[in-house]
Amino acid sequence: MRVMAFGAHPDDIEFLCAGTLAKYSSQGHKVAIAISTNGEVGSPDLSKDETAAIREKEARASAQIINADFFWLGYPDEFLFNCEEVRLHFIEIIRQFRPDIIICPDKDTDYHPDHITTGQIIWDTHVMVTVPNIKTQSPPCDLIPDIIFMDTVTGVNFHPEFYVDITEQWEAKSEMIACHKSQGKWMVDQYDMSCVDLGKTQSRLRGLQSGCKYAECFRRPKFYPGVTTRNGLLP
Ligand SMILES: [Zn+2]
Repeated sequence: MRVMAFGAHPDDIEFLCAGTLAKYSSQGHKVAIAISTNGEVGSPDLSKDETAAIREKEARASAQIINADFFWLGYPDEFLFNCEEVRLHFIEIIRQFRPDIIICPDKDTDYHPDHITTGQIIWDTHVMVTVPNIKTQSPPCDLIPDIIFMDTVTGVNFHPEFYVDITEQWEAKSEMIACHKSQGKWMVDQYDMSCVDLGKTQSRLRGLQSGCKYAECFRRPKFYPGVTTRNGLLP
């Protein structure tokens, strides 16, 4: 299978589904990480351009740990909007990778506008990727990808339907989170917790809920045609 995860910001995927991506990858599936915004407001002292450049490097290094293809869409952090031009860009990126499954933020329960917009754009385009009369550089996909929503940060408002045991992938996930060095001090200042500890706390909580040490959780949107189970198998 081909599994593509879309995060709004560099490090969202690491917190919420990196263990699952690592598991897919270890089982021989092809994985891709795509990031909608450039994370440019994620620094209290560096300029936006400096911050975006650092964060792209960190995100690429993280993707390499699980041998994932990497797509950097580069939209302004905090100002991602769902319009025709942006949808066509997402469609082109999806057509380049041609996923069976897309994991993305939960457009219905997430708190952050960039997360909600990323999830909404994926929802709005996942059928369009197969439509020949919607033209982008790459040819249309043969299949409508299944959509799976990832957990929210700290799990607020999220109602899990599926859990993935990531105990064996915890080391890879923590290494991926640790790639985002630029967020270290910022996170401790904001949340009094390191990035790895934040990821560990949430993965441990989801593990407690599902009877293993570390887990990640997901749900599937239930609207036509997303109710199929053609490919939506979690590892
Ligand atoms: Zn985010």
